[in-house]
Amino acid sequence: MTLGSLAQGLYLVAGVLFVLSLAGLSKQATARRGNLLGMGGMALALVATVALAVDVSERPVPVTLLLVALVFVIGGVVGTWRARTVEMTQMPELIAVLHSFVGAAAVLVGINSYLTERADPLHLVEVFLGVLIGAVTLTGSVVAFLKLSARIRSAPLTLPGRNLLNLAALVVCGALLAWFLAAPSVVPLLLMTVVALALGWHLVAAIGGGDMPVVVSMLNSYSGWAAAAAGFMLGNDLLIVTGALVGSSGAILSWIMCRAMNRSFVSVILGGYGAEGGTAPAGDEPVGEHRETTPQEVAEMLQDARTVVITPGYGMAVAKAQYPVAELVARLRAQGTTVRFGVHPVAGRLPGHMNVLLAEAKVPYDIVLEMDEINDDLPATDVVLVIGANDTVNPAAEDPGSPIAGMPVLEVWRAKKVVVFKRSMATGYAGVQNPLFFRENTVMLFGDAKQRVEDIVAAVPAPAAALVR
Ligand code: NDP
Repeated sequence: MTLGSLAQGLYLVAGVLFVLSLAGLSKQATARRGNLLGMGGMALALVATVALAVDVSERPVPVTLLLVALVFVIGGVVGTWRARTVEMTQMPELIAVLHSFVGAAAVLVGINSYLTERADPLHLVEVFLGVLIGAVTLTGSVVAFLKLSARIRSAPLTLPGRNLLNLAALVVCGALLAWFLAAPSVVPLLLMTVVALALGWHLVAAIGGGDMPVVVSMLNSYSGWAAAAAGFMLGNDLLIVTGALVGSSGAILSWIMCRAMNRSFVSVILGGYGAEGGTAPAGDEPVGEHRETTPQEVAEMLQDARTVVITPGYGMAVAKAQYPVAELVARLRAQGTTVRFGVHPVAGRLPGHMNVLLAEAKVPYDIVLEMDEINDDLPATDVVLVIGANDTVNPAAEDPGSPIAGMPVLEVWRAKKVVVFKRSMATGYAGVQNPLFFRENTVMLFGDAKQRVEDIVAAVPAPAAALVR
């Protein structure tokens, strides 16, 4: 057996492992296994790629191995350092940067492949499309990174005739493709690269803060297609399979998220929607009087409750309140209280953000329910604790005039009592005021979520004490 055929065999096994990994990741109970399968697949893929490099390279084998080792060390050191230091709240920014690398790789592979390989029309189309998708992914991801990390304003850039500008860019790219096929040269390829870089920048700049979750997942999809295109150019089957898996799973996730925000995919891509992030002035005037409470009062309220639902949001992640929250849940359950979590699909700053944090704090996953599973139970719930969530529990979504009109939300205001944990009356990510804070059955518990939950935990008996009561 040659090294090349061994590598192709390993690629096949790795491809199957990636599919099984995705299947495992779709459920919390099997997510760990899914991750392990994915890691196993990636390890096999790396071994196979090194074997292929040794097989096809004209350099002496030790030189090839040394070059590969050098790249491994650089990538491994940077990757390990970032993975260890990144905060969960910065994950979307990190993902955006990683997508930009995939885009950059597709552009470089495309141009290199044109300069070094045969020039049949099919290959030229592959190169052109690969560079086009890669360039759009590259600058789009850079803008998403800058917006998510608050290095630039997250408000949409609304240039006059912006949809026409995008359309014009695509028409120019179509014309450049015709030129590239009729008289292959690097000039139309580079001109298209510049147009595509500008298109990617403009596409994402036109999308506002509220739609950023979909953009991150959409760029995930683009990066998959860019990788698949690179796979075609390099004749690498595994890259094609992996790219297609990432491309299609990113597209499915984008679609699910659009549904969760009641937005059409096309309206998100065309941009222009979404208010300034953080405490934007848009629509944040108070709409009544709010009432404040204390940790002691909340502790008493919880001890009297039979059913409690906790709806976490971005603030729980920022405060790292998941650990005291898990402790509070354990104490309440030990007293016989039914406690469950209601997680909105876009709570936090990336899909699954809350599930990861709760799993990290060892909250049993069978009490972590999705929005659709918990909404019908909320009217019969004694107390809802809204911990650092805002947009995802905003009843303004029912108001046709609101910027978040039609977004499905956790209908916490239907519960008997609601306690909102936050530090101020500031708005959430979408910059929209939340009428929940002024409802009759709502009380506000101001302060850092972790500190406030710890105060409540201190006032609720520990499990052993609770059992002997
Ligand atoms: P929001 O951003 O709407 O609200 C977070 C709340 O947490 C704020 O009200 C803030 O109020 C409070 N908060 C912040 N820090 C603390 C702290 N230390 N202690 C206590 N409270 C704190 O969060 P949601 O999770 O409800 O909604 C997510 C939003 O983010 C949606 O608009 C969604 O579209 C968007 N988004 C989601 C992504 C995803 O994929 N999930 C990705 C990108 C954006 P205060 O400042 O007063 O404390």
